[in-house]
Amino acid sequence: MARPLVADIDLDALRHNYHLARSLAPRSRAVAVIKADAYGHGAVACARALEAQPAQARPPAFAVACLEEAEVLREGGVHTPIVLLEGIFEAKELAQVEALGLWMAVHSDWQVEALLAHRPARPIPVWLKVDSGMHRLGFSPEEAVGVWQRLAAAPDCASDLQLMSHFATADAVEAGYFRRQLARMQALGERLGAPLCLANSPATLAWPDAHGAWVRPGVMLYGSDPLEVPSEASRRLQPVMTLRSQIIAVRELEEGEPVGYAGRWRAPRRSRIGVVACGYGDGYDRHAVDGTPVLVAGRRTAIAGKVSMDMLTVDLTEIPEATIGSEVVLWGRAANGEVLGVDEVARHCDTISYTLLTGILPRVPRRYSR
Ligand SMILES: *Cc1c(COP(=O)(O)O)cnc(C)c1O
Repeated sequence: MARPLVADIDLDALRHNYHLARSLAPRSRAVAVIKADAYGHGAVACARALEAQPAQARPPAFAVACLEEAEVLREGGVHTPIVLLEGIFEAKELAQVEALGLWMAVHSDWQVEALLAHRPARPIPVWLKVDSGMHRLGFSPEEAVGVWQRLAAAPDCASDLQLMSHFATADAVEAGYFRRQLARMQALGERLGAPLCLANSPATLAWPDAHGAWVRPGVMLYGSDPLEVPSEASRRLQPVMTLRSQIIAVRELEEGEPVGYAGRWRAPRRSRIGVVACGYGDGYDRHAVDGTPVLVAGRRTAIAGKVSMDMLTVDLTEIPEATIGSEVVLWGRAANGEVLGVDEVARHCDTISYTLLTGILPRVPRRYSR
């Protein structure tokens, strides 16, 4: 029998979460963000699952970080428009942008110059990136006015202009900084008569004011709740990835006996320990503390001992029916329907769902429903 660790990808849940995003922003178009191999879920499979829907339910566009990610999608038979969220990294990429029918963000003067000098056969849809407070990429609101006017005056090069910006704190309960960013973009949009594309997942979930012409949900599509405090809407998200394995060995320990490297966990009483085929060599986070939740045979228990490269250990003392071959869910949905959210696991690893999901390594086979 093969090693039992798999990442099961539920494409119905992906479609459900995409529909939820759309229903929360009914007057916006929703670009599905599938960068970083769809947050570790497999970009081609996810894009094709979203494309394989009735026309009115399909995403009008996908978003990735760079040309290489768009090329993989086109080679995989994905036909929908694709936005490059960071645009091009060098001018010669423009030929491929054109050939593959891509849209692009522009965040820097050199990109604008390259686009205007390139003279595409057909104009390229352009999302002008504005730095409204993230202080990472984009033009200041003042600079953006001039760049917008230059692009608008070159309709042979750039078409379908949008103003795009990214929020630093849309997930937080404290909304002061978010509101300042939003106000800057609303003022700029009004001044230029420009459509806006602002909302990431938390803003899509929690801030209808920020739903412009477009929203850009990412992590919520995969069932992770980005909000500091969950909302009625975010509780309706469904996990897409289930990281599933099995118990491959069982140990009985006397009180006080240690488990694993450095003996970090010591049995507080007579204990039963299960060894699970999953480790940091699969992308499971080595920072998982004792007490990190796990589902064994659909019941909650916890990691006991440091995560190894190919294995980790869990406490089975309260789950007497667990034995070799029992199902272990590291996050996602167990066979009995019980759910363990990737966000909860991330908190025990002092990280965020994004790093856990994108961190699953190629050694773990992806298995797709339908
Ligand atoms: C990744 C990304 C998103 C999606 O963010 P989530 O928090 O995953 O929803 C949206 N916009 C830009 C520019 C991004 O880079």
